[in-house]
Amino acid sequence: MPDCLFCKIVAGDLPTDRVLESERTIAFRDISPQAPVHVLVIPRQHLPDVAAVAQAGDGLLDELVAQARQVAADAGIADYRLVFNTGAGAGQSVWHAHAHVLGGRPMTWPPG
Ligand code: AMP
Repeated sequence: MPDCLFCKIVAGDLPTDRVLESERTIAFRDISPQAPVHVLVIPRQHLPDVAAVAQAGDGLLDELVAQARQVAADAGIADYRLVFNTGAGAGQSVWHAHAHVLGGRPMTWPPG
């Protein structure tokens, strides 16, 4: 998708701090970290949100979650928050599915 920020990252047209890659996913550090560990895991394929990732099937959502777990393990954290903001009212600002992996500090609940 030509106007999609994360498609530009997938294509390598925007520099990011990549921490993990697989054939179908990329994980990179969030540009505006909300925690000591704040990494985004995205599918290379343009899909607008996590529901579309689930609908795409073929284990893609499983792979995103497994990559998120690996990101946390590589960062040396056992506890982390995995967030898929879905819809503008819930804070989604980029319409290319992404999981936020957040950790490295105590997390309160509810998040506010
Ligand atoms: P969301 O608001 O859930 O859609 O999350 C989008 C996230 O993308 C935000 O946390 C932004 O800080 C992050 N972001 C936006 N542009 C970039 C970029 N160029 N590199 C890394 N993270 C980005």
